[in-house]
Amino acid sequence: MNRAVSNLRARHVARLGSFCASSSSSSSPASEAWDGRFRLHKPRGQHLLTNPRVLDAIARHAALRPGDAVLEVGPGTGNLTARLLASPAARVSAVEIDPRMVDAVTARASALNLAHKLTVILGDAVETDFPEFDVCVANIPYGISSPLIAKLLFGTYRFRTATLLLQKEFARRLVAKPGDSEYNRLAANVHMVAETRLLMDVSKRDFVPMPRVDSSLVEIRPRVDMPEADLAEWLAFTRECFGQKNKTLGAIFKQKRKILELFKRSHRTKRCADDAPGRGVILGVLDDDNDEACSDDDGNDDNGRSDVVAGFNKEDVGAFKERIANALESTELAGKRPSQLSNDELLRLLRLLNERGVWFQ
Ligand code: SAH
Repeated sequence: MNRAVSNLRARHVARLGSFCASSSSSSSPASEAWDGRFRLHKPRGQHLLTNPRVLDAIARHAALRPGDAVLEVGPGTGNLTARLLASPAARVSAVEIDPRMVDAVTARASALNLAHKLTVILGDAVETDFPEFDVCVANIPYGISSPLIAKLLFGTYRFRTATLLLQKEFARRLVAKPGDSEYNRLAANVHMVAETRLLMDVSKRDFVPMPRVDSSLVEIRPRVDMPEADLAEWLAFTRECFGQKNKTLGAIFKQKRKILELFKRSHRTKRCADDAPGRGVILGVLDDDNDEACSDDDGNDDNGRSDVVAGFNKEDVGAFKERIANALESTELAGKRPSQLSNDELLRLLRLLNERGVWFQ
């Protein structure tokens, strides 16, 4: 074990002692403290949560009910798993990528005499199909936050809540409201299908080894009353809007390249109204925005013909551009930035654009 980890561990064990003296944390034969039996891999997000009070609080917030099937992602050595197994939940399925951790969490459950409630699946949580679950509770590796939440919310899973420990900044974006500086495509897309709630902040000092970032616990609750919308179309629309979230919608939809791209998409020979978003699309829908510059050059050579633009009839493209401008005008959204708008406002604009033959996917 390297010295940094060893020092951290010594400090942490000392702190755990004082926590245990004053807390009524669930008693478990195996301690939360990390015994250094193998090397933890930071690139795999292997930062174990070792503060029993925080672990208890996460289990409490998850509000597990008798009979619940729980999904945990990245159980590690089982500090949180032990609480989930001791809860009224009927069973816990844990997906873990590291075989050493699989062994550790399995041994932990056996030591607690709760192995019969646990199924450990060795695999990458982004790729592996999950078994059915009612509630997801996890301190996940932060590197997979976006694809994992996208998989949970835009896949085929039906569940009551996901209570996730996430990097603090990411959590702030997830619960941001329109007009907040953190509000972006992630928040808009998640809020389309779920409600989010910040439950508590967790210090980086509660982990071994200590990460560079603080964390926050967030509850994600899928909506029962989803707005009527074609999800794939919505996701493609928000990609266009939030790709340049600091520009006004008027400026975004005036760009020649964008108009031509939308014109092409809108005139595909065969539109499938209920095209479900593909797996690649799903995992990418919550990527962070990049305020990419969009050149106005269409990059096409029309051989000097004045009636053609990028191979299309100039008049048709002009009329298409007009339809977009009119939709923005009639909704009075041309001067607004996407990050200031509620999903209802954005959805109203999308519907109007669709009605006028403007499609985004
Ligand atoms: N939940 C534990 C461990 C958190 S560390 C605790 O709170 O102490 C993150 C865990 O996720 C590690 O065990 C790591 O091996 C695992 N992990 C990392 N990437 C993963 C992936 N793509 N799929 C599943 N597990 C992963």
